[in-house]
Amino acid sequence: MTLEEAKIKHEALVKEIEKYAHEYYVLDNPSVSDAVYDQKMEELQAIENEFPSLVTPTSPTQRIIGQVLTGFNKVTHKEQMLSLADVFNEDELVEWVKKVYEALGTDKVTFVGEMKIDGLAMSLVYQDGVLQYAATRGDGRVGEDVTLNVLTIPDIPTRIDKKGRVEVRGEIYMPKASFNSLNKYRSEAGEPLFANARNAAAGSIRNLDTSVAKSRKLDGWWYYFQNAEEFNIDSHYDSLLELEKMGFKVNKERRLLHNIQEILDYVKEYTAKRSSLPYDIDGIVLKVNDFSLHEALGYTAKTPKWAIAYKFPPEEVQTKLLDIVYTVGRTGKITPNAVLEPVRVAGSLVQRATLHNEDFVIEKGLKIGDTVVLRKAGDIIPEVVTSLPNLRDGSEIPFKMIENCPVCGSKLVKIDAMHFCLNKNCPSRNIESLIHFASKDAMDIEGMGDKVCEEFFALGFIKFIPDIYNLAKYREKIIEIDGWSHKSIDNLLAGIEKSKLNSLEKLLFGLGIKEVGSKMARTLARRFNTLDNLVSATLEDLTRINDVGEVVANSIYSYFRDEHNINLINALKSYNLNMTYLGNNKVDESNYFFNKRVVLTGTLEKYGRKEATELLENLGAHVSSSVSKITDIVIAGEEAGSKLDKANKLGIQVMTEDEFLSHLDNGN
Ligand code: NAD
Repeated sequence: MTLEEAKIKHEALVKEIEKYAHEYYVLDNPSVSDAVYDQKMEELQAIENEFPSLVTPTSPTQRIIGQVLTGFNKVTHKEQMLSLADVFNEDELVEWVKKVYEALGTDKVTFVGEMKIDGLAMSLVYQDGVLQYAATRGDGRVGEDVTLNVLTIPDIPTRIDKKGRVEVRGEIYMPKASFNSLNKYRSEAGEPLFANARNAAAGSIRNLDTSVAKSRKLDGWWYYFQNAEEFNIDSHYDSLLELEKMGFKVNKERRLLHNIQEILDYVKEYTAKRSSLPYDIDGIVLKVNDFSLHEALGYTAKTPKWAIAYKFPPEEVQTKLLDIVYTVGRTGKITPNAVLEPVRVAGSLVQRATLHNEDFVIEKGLKIGDTVVLRKAGDIIPEVVTSLPNLRDGSEIPFKMIENCPVCGSKLVKIDAMHFCLNKNCPSRNIESLIHFASKDAMDIEGMGDKVCEEFFALGFIKFIPDIYNLAKYREKIIEIDGWSHKSIDNLLAGIEKSKLNSLEKLLFGLGIKEVGSKMARTLARRFNTLDNLVSATLEDLTRINDVGEVVANSIYSYFRDEHNINLINALKSYNLNMTYLGNNKVDESNYFFNKRVVLTGTLEKYGRKEATELLENLGAHVSSSVSKITDIVIAGEEAGSKLDKANKLGIQVMTEDEFLSHLDNGN
């Protein structure tokens, strides 16, 4: 980026941020999520880091944006009410802690961890024990006198036992329960709903009609005794104890933290507990405990350097849908995919998301160029939740499903909701089949990941699956390719050789038969023992199996009636691949898990979910993904969430990972 380009981008970003800040701080009615706002601020910061000449005192990175509403008296804060610098992941947090250590020349620093309450900052000023006023942060220097509204909160002390001037700062918030009943009431009354509890709280406090605040059931947490040192208190933690003694509500989740590990554990603990707290938090605040170190660390124009806000990864964010591109799967299935303006969601940067099929795109009403809401389903797979048509500017392009395969050009065929390329020689289908065949859950060929498959396909060394077993023929040529050595190709060839010994279920899954996932492959392998038995199975043989319905049976049956597939199997046979089930067919029915319905939840340390599922199924258990009344056992690992809650509610047996392992060891 040239300076000229940076200037233009900078100006546009400042304008955009100021608009959002006005909607948020002044109107209490944001049009974008906090994550989008934070992302814009990060972009602005990055430009200013690269081109420091663009930094001005009025840049949003340098000042607190806010404005005093007319109708309220102005209050000038004796000491500025600052904001907090943010970090967005553990690495940035550790970096900040190390910076503190470096600035102080020691790592013997104690921190206080606190909840970052998602509400509205408030300053309470007392003189000789009597409340003088309550004021908002405003632009940091001048705020609004909102005393009457704050006094509608029952637990705010109007008198305290302290002579002289006392300033206490904290956050006014709306408890989740108040927020839910408020929105329920508004919905019944046909009134617009509040986007979140923070905005509802801020809107209530900054309403000139005091009865509004009173009806909203607000509360406050007090986290800063601004002039504590004047009362001979020398640490933040002690000042919180003192506030408590004075009658202020101080959040109990606070904790003294002595090193990086304790800080990370604290963050992890409250990331998990967040949803069970009765009020919203949007992160964790860490503050250096010892007041004497605060001066040593200092301040920027906007934030203290002795504190930091760790912001939770957003669960839902907004971004732009830049394009829709199509991929061809191994079965020829065409998937539309969203190309997105990169955005961080639930901790990782996302730029693609599947749009599944034509109907999905139509149902969501997506147009290219739309602003869309994105979330991570189950915190793993990015998912487009909806588009926001009110943010369109007219330049958006309507969606139209393609009619031809984007790779081979064949006319697409629609079967149910899906479009397919039926050309068996479509290069894209072949590459995908190769990648799938070699993948971990299928033949698990070490060293043969996506890139290697694509490379050998492009070079013509592997065109179809059986060519994998003839790769040795190209050994000398491969060695000459950049990035390959004698050792790496020999390792790969050894991996290919080893895969020939796999048990039947791996091969079956690797063939990529429609409707046959790895679990079904195991069921079939166990039931039929050899591939030949399965090939000659009738439709009745297939439907007689417990988990096999008509659709699955038809798919398996027709797969083995297709000459192309039989040729593939014969070719693999000629390379001596094992085609027999090698697992244990006889399940010991006396084992603890036999015939039990089991659900796994949380993180399992010793075996991952997949491996644990496999172990359980080999013992005759039925593993499913959701808890219901018929579940027998829930095995709960670390950070188990809603499934564990549900199990407890339904009175289902819950087993820790250790108990699970000991049952496995004992066999009963
Ligand atoms: P901030 O909310 O990120 O952090 C500073 C504030 O945290 C303090 O002023 C204080 O009010 C609060 N806080 C809560 N618990 C605290 C504790 N235990 N100790 C100390 N402070 C605590 O910063 P900000 O400057 O108030 O607001 C910026 C944030 O507001 C953005 O990161 C964004 O999330 C949101 N925002 C959103 C929009 C939007 O359009 N959606 C616009 C502007 C700002």
